[in-house]
Amino acid sequence: MRVGVVGLGMSGLRAAMLLERAGFETKLFEARGRPGGRLHTSDEGDGVLYETGGEWIDADHERIIDLLKEFDLEPDPKGAWPKRLQYRGKHTTEDLIWTDALEDDLRVERAVRDMCEGLKSPAWENVQALDWDRRTVTDFLCEHTESERGLWYVNAKYRSDEGDDLDRVGLLGWLAGFQNYLDREGDELSAFRFPGGASRLCNLMLGTLKTEAHFSRVLERVRQDATGVTLVFSDGEERVDRVILTLPPRALEKVVFEPALSVGKRCAIEACQLSRAIKISWHFKEAWWKNHAWGGSMLCDNSLQQTWDGSLGDAAVMSAYICGDEATRWIQKGDPVNEGLFELSQLFPEASKQFVRGWVHDWVRDPYAQGAFTHLAPGYVLEHMRYITPQESRVHFAGDHTATWTGFIEGAVESAERVVAEIVAIESAEPKSSA
Ligand SMILES: Cc1cc2nc3c(=O)[nH]c(=O)nc-3n(C[C@H](O)[C@H](O)[C@H](O)COP(=O)(O)OP(=O)(O)OC[C@H]3O[C@@H](n4cnc5c(N)ncnc54)[C@H](O)[C@@H]3O)c2cc1C
Repeated sequence: MRVGVVGLGMSGLRAAMLLERAGFETKLFEARGRPGGRLHTSDEGDGVLYETGGEWIDADHERIIDLLKEFDLEPDPKGAWPKRLQYRGKHTTEDLIWTDALEDDLRVERAVRDMCEGLKSPAWENVQALDWDRRTVTDFLCEHTESERGLWYVNAKYRSDEGDDLDRVGLLGWLAGFQNYLDREGDELSAFRFPGGASRLCNLMLGTLKTEAHFSRVLERVRQDATGVTLVFSDGEERVDRVILTLPPRALEKVVFEPALSVGKRCAIEACQLSRAIKISWHFKEAWWKNHAWGGSMLCDNSLQQTWDGSLGDAAVMSAYICGDEATRWIQKGDPVNEGLFELSQLFPEASKQFVRGWVHDWVRDPYAQGAFTHLAPGYVLEHMRYITPQESRVHFAGDHTATWTGFIEGAVESAERVVAEIVAIESAEPKSSA
């Protein structure tokens, strides 16, 4: 029994490991010249390392924490510095947040908890919540906040998690995601990073596989029949018994399926939104932010939106993460690195003095992702969500867009576990065949 895995991001790598463990022969393909997909640690030499993609692990992301432990890696805890909040020329820290913003934050959280109570899983079972599915998170936050500063704060905080403007995110999908957070205590959000960078784990995962992975192979067409699946790449064909496709929705949309996928699946793929997010990373001579008794993490009301200490090696790196319409504006700028540095220097003049060099990573124009990660648009849950995950005969689907931890690294691993269990169940029920 030979199973093809196309896409060697976190979901494909984990699926390949689990398939091998379950005794399947595998064939592995990836369009890029490296594993990891939207996880990638850039190594610029001289100890300058930073993440261009996914970076943070929440304390309850148990699958990814366990996976690190499988490789004797301990998740790297974030520093104890509280996040700086910068609004209209004033600043404070999250532990000493302004009273009006704190009250609004608590009001929003209470309302979310009340609404989550009684929500059914899977999310599309909540047909009574048609109104919530049509509304946006922005509508909800506006309704439950009283101060302008509070609205700014909750918007900035939740936007960071969704990776896009919250008027593009449906309330029901957001609440369904929030259910994952209900048991959280204290500071579990963004609690850890990958020790040595995410690419280290991805390369270790690749190194455990018995089958050689084929890189720079772009899937163009999938033909399936009663006995197997033919995968058509830009440079040739491969035959397998079943295939797991982990391609993000925009990449999946470009693949031609023969016979065509069901209407429900096609519409679900098309409606599945990826957030618009970019990262700017600056290498500085030293971590000047520590001189301000500040760890580098900031939510701000200027167009940089959010920063943190992105250093992974010895060198000082600060990263800014910009989402939504603002991300689109930034990538149209001639020189985002220097323009971002200018914004930062308005708050901290040392930034320009300490600057060495910088980089921008535009996930919106990345050819194999075309966006950062999945968020659930208004109307998506009730109309489309149920169709995104199920297999279509011998073609199986994984990736962060098919998980309950939608849009997270944890979700990518979750989807790998689910899809391998799906194949194991089918194969143990069916007589053996070979392609
Ligand atoms: C800027 C940014 C910040 C993020 N921050 C976080 C964070 O802090 N915490 C968190 O949990 N998550 C974060 N994420 C999301 C996280 O990175 C993703 O959820 C996760 O990496 C997705 O893994 P995946 O395997 O589902 O998809 P991918 O990593 O996209 O893997 C799919 C693979 O398919 C390949 N592919 C595409 N098209 C083809 C084709 N035609 N043929 C062959 N192969 C193809 C791609 O090259 C890719 O390697 C972030 C993402 C970005 C971009």
